[in-house]
Amino acid sequence: MRLYTVEHQGRALVCLEDADGRLAVLPYETMNDLLTDDPENRDRILAQAQREMGEIFFEEVTLLAPIPNPMQDVICLGMNYQKHKAEAEQFDAQAFTREKARAVYFSKRATHCPGPDAPIPGHFDIVDSLDYETELAVILGKDAVNVSEEDAFDYVFGYTIVNDVSARNLQTGHKQWYFGKGLDGFTPMGPCIVTKDEFAQPPAQAIRTWVNGELRQDAVTDELIFGIRHIIHELSQGMTLRAGTVIATGTPAGVGMGFDPPKFLKKGDVVTCQIVGIGTLENTVE
Ligand code: MG
Repeated sequence: MRLYTVEHQGRALVCLEDADGRLAVLPYETMNDLLTDDPENRDRILAQAQREMGEIFFEEVTLLAPIPNPMQDVICLGMNYQKHKAEAEQFDAQAFTREKARAVYFSKRATHCPGPDAPIPGHFDIVDSLDYETELAVILGKDAVNVSEEDAFDYVFGYTIVNDVSARNLQTGHKQWYFGKGLDGFTPMGPCIVTKDEFAQPPAQAIRTWVNGELRQDAVTDELIFGIRHIIHELSQGMTLRAGTVIATGTPAGVGMGFDPPKFLKKGDVVTCQIVGIGTLENTVE
C-alpha cells in the first residue's frame, strides 16, 4: 500500500493509492493520527478504503511530505554505510572518526518537512557547505519498548525517503550535529509511505541520488552496518519509541563532502533522491 498526504483545494488529506492509481481519502486528519491509531482499527480502515473507489486524481493535488509535521525529532543513524563512513572520516577526521564499533545515533529537528517538489532552503547566510544525504526512513506503527531483534519488524509500519540535508560547516564546527542537521526545511520527505509488506525484511532496494542529473549516490538499502532489527532492538531498551517515530537509517557514499574537491549544493541545484519501490523525492535548493 502507498499512503500520501496531499493538498487538495486548500486542505491536507491523508490518502491511499488504489489499484487504479487514484487516491482514496482516508478518515484521518493527519498521517500522525493514522500512525498512532489502534493497529487493528487502522488495518480495518485501510482494507475498506481499498475496496472503495477513490474520488481524487493525482493531477488534482499537490503532494506534501507524507508526515509533514513529525510528532518528535527524527532519529538518525550516522555513518551507517561502510564507504560513506570512510569518505566522512577523510573529509574531517576529528569530526567523524569513531573508535567504538557502536551505532552513531543523533536527533534531527524536523518541525516541518518539505514534500516532493518543495524547495530546500539553503540558509546561505550561515551555511557555506550545504550537502544532501538520501536515506531509507523507517516509520513505526506502534509503541516499541524492549523489543527483541526477532520481533523488530512487527513495529514497522512502512518506509519513506528522507533527505538528511546537512550544513557541514555547522555540523563539524559544533561538537554535536544537531544545529547543522536541524535547520528549517532540512528534512525533505516523500513521496509516500510504502507499507512494509511490499518489501523484504530488511528492504534490499536500490538507493540513488542525482544532483542536476549527475549520479552521486548508488547503493542498496540492505548494506547498512547496523540494520533495522539492531536499531529498533537497541534503542527500545530503556527508550520508548512511540508510534509515528521516524528513523533515518543513514546515507551511502557519494555525498558532496566525499568528493575532492567537495561538491556542495548551491542555489538552483536540483536534488533527486530515489529508492526503487518507494519513488523519487526531488527538491530544488533556493
Ligand atoms: Mg544522515
